[in-house]
Amino acid sequence: MVVEGGVDVEELGRATWTFLHTLAATHSAAPSPAEVKRIERFMRDFSEIYPCAPCAESFRGIMKRVPVDASTGPKFAQWMCKVHNEVNKEIGKPLFNCEEVSKSWGVCESCARHEDSLIGFKGLLKRMRQAGRKDSTANKERSSN
Ligand SMILES: Cc1cc2nc3c(=O)[nH]c(=O)nc-3n(C[C@H](O)[C@H](O)[C@H](O)COP(=O)(O)OP(=O)(O)OC[C@H]3O[C@@H](n4cnc5c(N)ncnc54)[C@H](O)[C@@H]3O)c2cc1C
Repeated sequence: MVVEGGVDVEELGRATWTFLHTLAATHSAAPSPAEVKRIERFMRDFSEIYPCAPCAESFRGIMKRVPVDASTGPKFAQWMCKVHNEVNKEIGKPLFNCEEVSKSWGVCESCARHEDSLIGFKGLLKRMRQAGRKDSTANKERSSN
């Protein structure tokens, strides 16, 4: 539920879990050491800045007990399910069967379509800039003649 002037803990939580599980489902099956480090850094920073201070504090505790495993995509998805279950336990919600996680969470299909439209848009911008450069060169040549 959206409350006046913002969201509540539940709405923020649902939206964030959607993001986090989708992030995990999209993580490479064979990430480079740099990609693993980036996820570790992101999750550490996330646990510092999550905009529900008591939630962030308890999540930092969970992350100490269950350190991030982003060594492969499937392992990261399992880790995310596990820490989400730790939160579920703390707030008395039912536990989720992590064997089923890939049935509930996957990549964002429409984001790929969005990427195509962005590429098209970037191509259009590039052509407009090139056309602009040609126009200004032609103008300079005209004014120097
Ligand atoms: C990092 C973090 C910490 C939080 N800490 C707190 C807190 O301390 N106190 C508090 O009151 N709220 C906290 N929340 C919010 C809380 O976790 C829920 O998001 C909120 O209560 C809404 O719950 P929900 O029943 O709609 O389902 P959510 O828990 O938001 O889950 C969304 C959907 O994910 C699926 N799901 C559930 N469990 C799992 C799992 N283990 N793995 C994969 N999918 C799953 C289900 O289909 C569910 O409908 C936290 C949220 C986050 C992101």
